[in-house]
Amino acid sequence: MKIAKEFTWEMGHRLPFHTGKCKNLHGHSYKCLIELTGDPDKNGMVMDYYDLKKVVEPILDELDHAFMVCKKDIEMIEALEKLNSRKVIVDFETTAENICIYLLNKIKSAKLPENIKEIKVRVLETENSYAEEETKI
Ligand SMILES: [Zn+2]
Repeated sequence: MKIAKEFTWEMGHRLPFHTGKCKNLHGHSYKCLIELTGDPDKNGMVMDYYDLKKVVEPILDELDHAFMVCKKDIEMIEALEKLNSRKVIVDFETTAENICIYLLNKIKSAKLPENIKEIKVRVLETENSYAEEETKI
């Protein structure tokens, strides 16, 4: 059985390696879909949606209205520090694919019920583009 819940957050980023528009500072209204697969418990629940929210929200609260910046992007980090602007420094380029893996790892390391066998995360940068990754627990 599979359950899913959708979450949203606002975040800025840039892709310095990109030769097109994405090298510029910009942001997205990100959306993510978290899917959990497992056998329902005796009450017929894979996981309480409320409990899932308690796992995912703190992870996204850290990102919301922040600028996600790769640790290699020194100029950007310095600019954000000068502006006293919220930032999350990560060790990867901030593509949707990498953000997807980042969220998947965070959720995987959170305390999930034992019946959960698989997690899938889909990150949408826009209405019509997404990255998706899944892992067994
Ligand atoms: Zn972007």
